[in-house]
Amino acid sequence: MRGLSDIRTVGVVGAGTMGNGIAQVAATAGYDVVMRDIERRFVDNGLESIESSLSRLDAKDELDESPEAIQDRITGTTAIGDLADADLVVEAALEDMEVKQDIFGDLEDVTDDDVVLATNTSTLSITTIASATDREDLVVGLHFMNPVPIMAGVEVVTGEKTAAEVTDLAHAFAEDLGKETWESDDKPGFVTNRVLMPWINEGIRAYDEGVASKEDMDKGMKLGTNVPMGPLELADHIGLDICLDASETLHEELGDRYKPAYLLKRKVAAGDLGKKTGKGFYEYE
Ligand code: NAD
Repeated sequence: MRGLSDIRTVGVVGAGTMGNGIAQVAATAGYDVVMRDIERRFVDNGLESIESSLSRLDAKDELDESPEAIQDRITGTTAIGDLADADLVVEAALEDMEVKQDIFGDLEDVTDDDVVLATNTSTLSITTIASATDREDLVVGLHFMNPVPIMAGVEVVTGEKTAAEVTDLAHAFAEDLGKETWESDDKPGFVTNRVLMPWINEGIRAYDEGVASKEDMDKGMKLGTNVPMGPLELADHIGLDICLDASETLHEELGDRYKPAYLLKRKVAAGDLGKKTGKGFYEYE
């Protein structure tokens, strides 16, 4: 297995909200990054998000080098074969088991046998994702938080067959990106989403049942419990489709107390996915 000092190039699968954030922090830490999405427009959107995030950080004097120097280390691609030189891969594509298993099957084919394959899944089983490969011991969860460049923590998730050295490498890699880590067993939702998703769904249900306006729901939770975002704002920020996928997995695995809110399903069906589509519970420029 490749250790931390062997890692020069990081492959990132998915250039969306999380993928471009992971690519950005890896490049900022000095790694070469190859970021892959299925269509050029998704790759370009990801590269644009990185550019604007780096220029905001630069304006606040938070970078050790120019944004351009960091961007130069990131290559965007639609070809999975371009991940062939990756020494570690982090997958951040759709929250769908079939999609993730297909990706891991492809990653096994294109990368060297000793390359660790990590997934940023919010709730899906690491063990089941790993079973699509013949290197189950080298598959681990690296669950970054959104927005990746700002949030200080990464959850390391160990699957049934994840080797202890791979778990150690996941902690060491995340720490090398400037993050603090904690560990969760491979149980639905891990630590964070198991507790967060019922909170978000209850906020949506309470709003839908007329307990308060959306603004008062979020204000009440912010000022009342000292969190930076209320449940509706946070759901928009995460992406309502991601919240629904995560809630459905938790519901399936853990029963009725995790049932997704009806209004969450209705908004996703309408294509109002939150900030990323310009409209969720709130509207965005
Ligand atoms: P997103 O919808 O913003 O981006 C997903 C990207 O994956 C899209 O650009 C899509 O085109 C791409 N994609 C789909 N199939 C692909 C494939 N076969 N190969 C390469 N790219 C592919 O989603 P996101 O919010 O970035 O979430 C990505 C993953 O991270 C999900 O598993 C999600 O559960 C997890 N996650 C999300 C958050 C969050 O707050 N949004 C937080 C932690 C973890």
